[in-house]
Amino acid sequence: MSEQEVFMRAPAPTPKRTVYTDAMQIFHRAADLIGLAPRVRLELEEPDYEHIFYITAKLKDRLVPLSADQARAFGDLPATKLRNPEGLEPLADGKFILNGRALLGSDVSIRGGHLRLSDGNIYKLVPGESRRFKAYRVQHNQARGPYKGGIRYHHEVSLDLFKALAAEMTWKTAIVEVPFGGAKGGIQIDPRQYGREEIEAITLRFMYKLKRLIGPDVDIPAPDVGTNSEIMGLLFRQYSDGENERHTLRGVVTGKDVRIGGSEGRAKATGRGVAFCIEDYYAEKGSSVRGKSFIVQGFGNVGSSVAEILNAMGARLLAVNDAEGTVYNSDGIDVPALISYVQDPKNLKRSVFGFPGAQRIEKKDWWEVPADILIPAALGGEITAEVAERVKVKLIAEGANGPTTPEADKVIARRGIDLIPDIIANAGGVTVSYYEWIQNKRMESWSEAEVNRKLEFGMKRNWRIIRDIARNSARQTEMHDSRRFCISREVDTRCAAMILALKRIEAHYQLEGFSQ
Ligand code: NAD
Repeated sequence: MSEQEVFMRAPAPTPKRTVYTDAMQIFHRAADLIGLAPRVRLELEEPDYEHIFYITAKLKDRLVPLSADQARAFGDLPATKLRNPEGLEPLADGKFILNGRALLGSDVSIRGGHLRLSDGNIYKLVPGESRRFKAYRVQHNQARGPYKGGIRYHHEVSLDLFKALAAEMTWKTAIVEVPFGGAKGGIQIDPRQYGREEIEAITLRFMYKLKRLIGPDVDIPAPDVGTNSEIMGLLFRQYSDGENERHTLRGVVTGKDVRIGGSEGRAKATGRGVAFCIEDYYAEKGSSVRGKSFIVQGFGNVGSSVAEILNAMGARLLAVNDAEGTVYNSDGIDVPALISYVQDPKNLKRSVFGFPGAQRIEKKDWWEVPADILIPAALGGEITAEVAERVKVKLIAEGANGPTTPEADKVIARRGIDLIPDIIANAGGVTVSYYEWIQNKRMESWSEAEVNRKLEFGMKRNWRIIRDIARNSARQTEMHDSRRFCISREVDTRCAAMILALKRIEAHYQLEGFSQ
């Protein structure tokens, strides 16, 4: 064989372990157990579409702080007095964005492109450059309805991760019985390093490119890590800009502000859903959440709302770990005070770090805080086998997507720790997103009480079906019917949740057939 031929030949595929293959292990296990139809399995094994595209934006001028060493050369530089200090936008990394004409009309002393601010520090003026960002949208499956899934702005994202998260959405929407499929996407960016107007420009450009791929009946984004209702508002504006009947397009994104068609109860829905599952878990044991202790990882949208709701139910928050630090109080953390602390605009990193109502501890010690419940509500892959050996909790309720590795699952099972898996525990967000979408379609607005009541029913009913599948106790009650889903043997709850998802999705292929 000539060298040329060897070169041309594609290397034999070597099975590589990735976030996606890890996430799909449970799919394969459940598919084997129920004998999932081979073609349905092929349909679900890989996403329908994987979009990668690039967006560019012109950044603004920045002031970048010098180190003490570098600043020494400017010891005699007088401070610049800004006419409009509002024009300086502080970033979490210590830099400032120069918005508008922050320096115009000010008493500016610049030497070699450096100036001193009123905080006494020397900053280098860095002119705004144009930058390119990598963006993604993975559309996993739409057998049950339009693609649906969040938009993540984070520096550690990849196609592989979005594939895993998109597939999770397909399982989740089936589990909570909302007529959607699964998708996920976002931008590879650390949003804390960019100013408000920069994020706006990047978001608008993102939707400019995304627009041809989505729509209110095609694919419906929502908030995820690093995005919020403001970003959803911008996405809607860009999607509907100049369109005839733009008001009918409101359902193209969910998680909007309630004043522009968002649903009451959406902001806290994911946390509330986690809390409903935990409440039902204890109710079934003849116990209650009252008096139970819990620890939370991540204190963003999901972590802070689940803490607030469990606290209102009478549980005690002992410790929180987030990206910047860890706090602990054996007497229980004052949750409303911690939320105010984290959401204070002066807390640029939105972190629990430095909260005065608790002591600082190391992350490694946080895992070992004894508590009834552990709620991971940050990023994926945090609960490794090694962590699972160390935790001192009786129940893990997964607020985050994919927080537990397959190896950790085995440890959790061996140690007899109960688990409420992510695909049911954190499905409250997409459930209320569905309510938002219906309200938009019908031009209605429901009360928060109504939304929460429906959410409670949806979460508890399906969590009960999953519990029955796990225990192989098929039954019908007023609230739920698990007879169609039990498989004549017991399984763990993660597998039970996947069985529920797969049986519901498979029914669409079986009863509707394949279009080709
Ligand atoms: P968020 O951006 O509001 O908050 C993320 C939190 O995680 C922050 O407190 C951050 O400090 C913390 N964090 C980040 N990296 C960390 C690390 N290495 N160690 C410890 N903490 C870290 O995000 P969110 O919307 O609350 O989402 C949290 C999780 O919940 C994600 O896994 C997301 O996919 C999942 N989820 C969110 C929703 C939703 O409606 N927002 C719905 C379902 C699932």
